[in-house]
Amino acid sequence: MTKDLRPPSIETAAIEWRDGVPCSTRFDDVYFSRDDGLQEARHVFIGHNRLAERFASAPAGSSFVIAETGFGTGLNFLAAWQAWAVSNPSDSSCLHFVSVERYPLAREDLGQALALWPELGDYAAELLEHYPPPVQGAHRLVLAGGRIRLTLFFGDVLEAWRELDFQADAWFLDGFAPSRNPRMWDQAAITALRGHSGPGTTLATFTAVGEVRRLLVNAGFNMRKTQGFRRKLEMLAGELPKGPEMGAGENLRPPHSIAIIGAGVAGTLLARNLAERGLAVTLIDQASDAGMAASGNCQGALYVKLGVEFNDQAKLGLSSLLFSQRYYAQSGGHCWHPTGLVQLAYNDVEAGRQARFTARNDYPAAILRAVDAIEASRMAGVPLPNGGLWFPSSGWLEPGKLCRALIRHPRIQQCFGFDVHRLTPCNGKWHVAGNGEQDVVADRVVICAGHLSPKLIPLPNEFRFRTIRGQVSHLPETSLNNPSVVLCGPGYINPAHEGTALAGATFDLHDHSPMLSVDSHRENLSMLAAMVPGLLKGPAAAIDPAVLEGKVAFRCTTHDYQPVAGPLTDPSGRALEGIDLFTGLGSKGLTYAPLLAEYLADRITGQPRCLPASLARRVATQRCHKRIATASETIGA
Ligand code: SAM
Repeated sequence: MTKDLRPPSIETAAIEWRDGVPCSTRFDDVYFSRDDGLQEARHVFIGHNRLAERFASAPAGSSFVIAETGFGTGLNFLAAWQAWAVSNPSDSSCLHFVSVERYPLAREDLGQALALWPELGDYAAELLEHYPPPVQGAHRLVLAGGRIRLTLFFGDVLEAWRELDFQADAWFLDGFAPSRNPRMWDQAAITALRGHSGPGTTLATFTAVGEVRRLLVNAGFNMRKTQGFRRKLEMLAGELPKGPEMGAGENLRPPHSIAIIGAGVAGTLLARNLAERGLAVTLIDQASDAGMAASGNCQGALYVKLGVEFNDQAKLGLSSLLFSQRYYAQSGGHCWHPTGLVQLAYNDVEAGRQARFTARNDYPAAILRAVDAIEASRMAGVPLPNGGLWFPSSGWLEPGKLCRALIRHPRIQQCFGFDVHRLTPCNGKWHVAGNGEQDVVADRVVICAGHLSPKLIPLPNEFRFRTIRGQVSHLPETSLNNPSVVLCGPGYINPAHEGTALAGATFDLHDHSPMLSVDSHRENLSMLAAMVPGLLKGPAAAIDPAVLEGKVAFRCTTHDYQPVAGPLTDPSGRALEGIDLFTGLGSKGLTYAPLLAEYLADRITGQPRCLPASLARRVATQRCHKRIATASETIGA
């Protein structure tokens, strides 16, 4: 019986255990062989794609891409991970595993199925820790310290192959028996997988059905029947002939050197990501250290406002939120404080919006759920006048400290106190010229300079960016009834840390002063007093704004409040060679930056992309050109 689920939830697998193996009641078929699923995976998929030898010869800094139809229990994935760990010792090469699943196993079922293989126990534990909640779309998991990347698309196979951008070196075709699940094996599915294959791509499958073989031969694969696993007499393996044909990827040769301008959250996350993938990075900033400007606050909330409509904007927000929560839990160290966060229904308009949001969407409670004022107050440890939406896995971060930790990597060269004046292309390289210093020369350059980005773009000023001042106030803990979770509404307040709680931020469209302003402090205090009466001990007026500390920073915002990450394009839409833009994060940089850094690093290294095509369009630089404003808004709507 199928349950009618609203987005973004996706129906999970209906599992029944028969003879000690999990079976799908929907497809009436087993997830793996009753004889020995792990040995079957090794025989069929690893062996007949010749993975041990191909893994061993993958050079440092390279990547190998396996694509699979049907993630199921993840057994094939773990078998491939183990084979990679055994055969490829380099710490900068990466195994990418791209898989699709229409009916994801619930976490408990996945755990139960994988418990059958004690020798995969460590890998299974790491997968389970990061296994995404059952929501539609692409999930990127970075495992084994970046040596394994899993792109797991929860949705239908054809949608996945239409939306995802990758080229497979090897295919695992594992979508239940063709007689029980023809959709995974029909002409459309084979045409789509051929589109993600190139010269030398191999494939293997447990089935030997004649029609499957015929479709694969017609698609250009040289196919052979071979000995199946144990009792199965036959299976199929194949290969696309190696020839002069070029692969589909646009960035097949990664650059040798890369310059990143701007050492805020965006720039430092990208620098670290690329360095871990084996690239030499020069990180440039005019300041004397990383995380000194807009990313330099001592506290920042991990927060995104998800729209009522589950459209591309909400999908990007949700993917970014889930990825950043996983990222900070894994790599944020002491800078990450997963206290949970309440998005308050602070007035009638917001309460109405949240009511429509919960009526129209089904979010798993592990991501968010509606709470009333009593429950919200219990979570926050202070009386709250309203309920709201509770995000149990969110929290707050020490962004400045994180930026400074991220850049400690042997492949990141720090170039601070360097005030960039001009970027000039010359003989296939970019020259980054500063104030009298020697030029930095690199194969590729990425502008991550927040609100200073527009003036560095080597094109006439055609972009629709806006600079918005924001001031935060540092409130002494003694002046507060301190909440134990982050509270968001018209502004936000973080739980006090080392005696101070950061609250903010003002949104000043017309004030461009970098100096702290008493009026801005006053504005933050009255915002707080209105958002949660009683949070400040005594009236807002009891705190003297003239003696408060704080910080002023400038957000870089786009016309549609969506971030920008991708190749820099000219007004005609043509990408300039070797230059990318990563900015426009507004006040949501902590949420967007980890996923977008991952996406840009995917593009720059020519590896499978974590963003589906529809979301990549959402963040493309092209939509920010002044001249094509109307057209791009229509396309992106
Ligand atoms: N490779 C898996 C493993 O290691 O456990 C076993 C895969 S199982 C044999 C086939 C999987 O394909 C099932 O999990 C099923 O839900 C999934 N599937 C079936 N139809 C699908 C479709 N149209 N799109 C995506 N996945 C589908």
